[in-house]
Amino acid sequence: MTMNNHSKWVVLTGATRGIGRAIAGHLAQAGYDLILPTRDPATAEHVALELKMLGARAVVYPCDLSIAQQVEDFAKTVLKEMGTPYGFVSCAGMTCDGLSFQLDIAKVQKTFQVNLFSTMQLTGQFAMPMGRAGGGRIVLISSVSAWLGNRGNAAYAATKGGLQAYMKSVLEEFSRRGVTINAVLPGFINTDMTQGRDEWIERMSKRIPAQRVGTPDDVANAVGFLLAPGASYINGAELAVDGGMSATLGLN
Ligand code: NAD
Repeated sequence: MTMNNHSKWVVLTGATRGIGRAIAGHLAQAGYDLILPTRDPATAEHVALELKMLGARAVVYPCDLSIAQQVEDFAKTVLKEMGTPYGFVSCAGMTCDGLSFQLDIAKVQKTFQVNLFSTMQLTGQFAMPMGRAGGGRIVLISSVSAWLGNRGNAAYAATKGGLQAYMKSVLEEFSRRGVTINAVLPGFINTDMTQGRDEWIERMSKRIPAQRVGTPDDVANAVGFLLAPGASYINGAELAVDGGMSATLGLN
């Protein structure tokens, strides 16, 4: 059923594929309109067309999240041209595989900028106007890597742990203004990010209580729930979408 969310603009990063693309479709079907910052405008325009076919409005803004100045410019332009968004979903992300003693610091810095710093920049620009407008919703796509160690994942995990620590202090600043901020922690989700790891995914599936890896729709459903009006009392949650993986020792 379509909710009455018209004129509720949601800024969504990472909508061109994978989890972000599923979130975009889910939110469009729920009646939200989408603002899509992207480093790949051609693909994003294609996604925007799909969203329009679902009855949503969708606008694309070129923005490479790895370049801090572009992120600042994007946020200011959106506030000027589109007004205050109702929601911000931070979904764009990149991996940074490598053992801790072999990490390339330039790649680590870029990963922090894309996964964490750009999210801090956009939250910093949008949260106060949302509060002044009577409230809003921020959802950060983190990862169970923030909770669970995994060899070769130290830098990526640090960006995601940073998101969750950041969330808790932002919450203290804005909850009295009706702005909620929550994190969704996907486990193993089948997307481009996990492509080429089929054997590993099959092995891991057997250790996930649900006995399968997740789908982008599994994550999109959780994001839709946190954006909905009925979720106004959920704040600072770290919601794992992982088939029960992080609740268990994974020994089976
Ligand atoms: P993906 O690689 O399929 O998509 C990543 C998206 O981020 C793409 O739209 C890409 O264009 C965008 N992006 C990356 N760098 C960017 C930049 N510099 N500027 C602008 N956009 C940029 O990844 P996914 O699997 O869909 O992951 C989405 C989110 O979920 C990420 O934050 C990821 O860390 C998180 N996550 C994924 C999994 C998984 O198993 N796939 C597990 C845990 C968390």
